[in-house]
Amino acid sequence: MALSPTRLDILGCPLDRVTMAQTLDTLRGYLKTDKFHLVVTIGSEMIVRAQTDHEFREAVRGAALVVPDSIGAVLAARYGGYPVRERVTGVELTQNMAQQMGPALRIFLLGGAPGVAETAAHRLLSMGPGVHIAGTHDGYFKDDAEIVAQVKASGANVLLVALGFPRQELWLSRHGAACGVQVGIGVGGTFDVLSGRVQRAPMVFQKLGMEWFYRLALQPSRWRRMLALPKFALRVLSGGKQAVKPMANS
Ligand code: UDP
Repeated sequence: MALSPTRLDILGCPLDRVTMAQTLDTLRGYLKTDKFHLVVTIGSEMIVRAQTDHEFREAVRGAALVVPDSIGAVLAARYGGYPVRERVTGVELTQNMAQQMGPALRIFLLGGAPGVAETAAHRLLSMGPGVHIAGTHDGYFKDDAEIVAQVKASGANVLLVALGFPRQELWLSRHGAACGVQVGIGVGGTFDVLSGRVQRAPMVFQKLGMEWFYRLALQPSRWRRMLALPKFALRVLSGGKQAVKPMANS
């Protein structure tokens, strides 16, 4: 059953009120077309960034689908009176795609330190019967045109980009169409988790909405990034109902 309205505006950023199952169905539809579709897995840090980064905000606003990755986005939607049913994180979306859409996928993994995308690709192959890995490349490249040509030549239909935000969304919005894929998703640290390089928070932290805390404990260098979280909460709370509303024309 669809949630209505489906697209919210949280501090000027879109958020689609979709479940994992609805997201997978939407992706199946995209794969039947010959057009490029940008999928954003949005979190509070990204929404804060979009307040001051015009180009990033426009890229997110231009996305075909914006799924609720972080607990902050989920709580903000609930606060505004438009609850979303569940988080759709980059890691879980990638895993579910492999498990449930296997034969329909020709995936190119772009991003992460050298070797990480390959290891993540092997993991995906072991998870999803029929998944085809079209190619991989690390995230430390200079020549965008060379990468675009590689992805295009690979025949991929799905491009997973793990360059961290805002770079991954900007990269996809600039080059996704030229890559010849139907779906491009910014997936953040997903390859690090799939490859076993970074541990995902145990379920108890995820259930309590404290995954950010676990990640901070493992990687204290993230503390500066975490400052965005109270900023996000304050902006949503001080904006009242105006901070979260149905997206105009959705
Ligand atoms: N990364 C990259 N190239 C860069 C900078 C970062 O490929 O120039 C990768 C990095 O190796 C990591 C990912 O981008 O795999 C970003 O992960 P992060 O944990 O920051 O993402 P989050 O899930 O927090 O958005």
